[in-house]
Amino acid sequence: MKHFVKQRGNFFGVRVKSSGGEFTAAQFGAIQTLAETFGRGQVHVTSRQEISVPFIAEENFDAVENFCANHGLELCTIGSTLKTVTSCQGREVCRSGLIDAPKIAREIERRHANKSLPAKFLIGVTGCPHNCMKVDTNDIGIVGAGGYKILFCGREFLTVRDEATLYSIVDAAINFFATNAHNGERFKKFLERVGVDEFTKHIRHE
Ligand code: SF4
Repeated sequence: MKHFVKQRGNFFGVRVKSSGGEFTAAQFGAIQTLAETFGRGQVHVTSRQEISVPFIAEENFDAVENFCANHGLELCTIGSTLKTVTSCQGREVCRSGLIDAPKIAREIERRHANKSLPAKFLIGVTGCPHNCMKVDTNDIGIVGAGGYKILFCGREFLTVRDEATLYSIVDAAINFFATNAHNGERFKKFLERVGVDEFTKHIRHE
């Protein structure tokens, strides 16, 4: 799997994934060591709740991958896959939360991380209608709202009551996209081409 992104000069960067938007304190310590040992002690927080470590030299690729594997740091895969599923703190922490958003994000990652797709795919989970995660800007958005409201490219599809149904719909959507989208075609363009009605009809019958 490719983990290193070419940057300016002869340097590369890696991104460390969060899990449901969370890192442990131990992971933060390891990221500090990673940046100080292999980079310039500098990190950047990405829009997808990852920690990016820049200024890595090519000769250190193996050492970086080994260090991360030994310190509980998962590196983002470069290319057309499900990107880090973003999440707010959800009901376990936030007083407004209606669903356990990090748990859902982790489960979707468990099901689909590193799967090869026609194009990158973005999913966000937000614990209530305040929508702090702006999940309507993702390919699939999940909102805690009297159940689990599912959005496709910002357009509301359905609200389901239980997690199992939520996962089966997310699975069906990703699998339909994986099977039918053209190479490089983003989900929004795919929906425009096949038609939202046709797509949702298929998803409902999965
Ligand atoms: S979306 Fe709701 S549950 Fe999530 S952080 Fe914002 S207010 Fe809290």
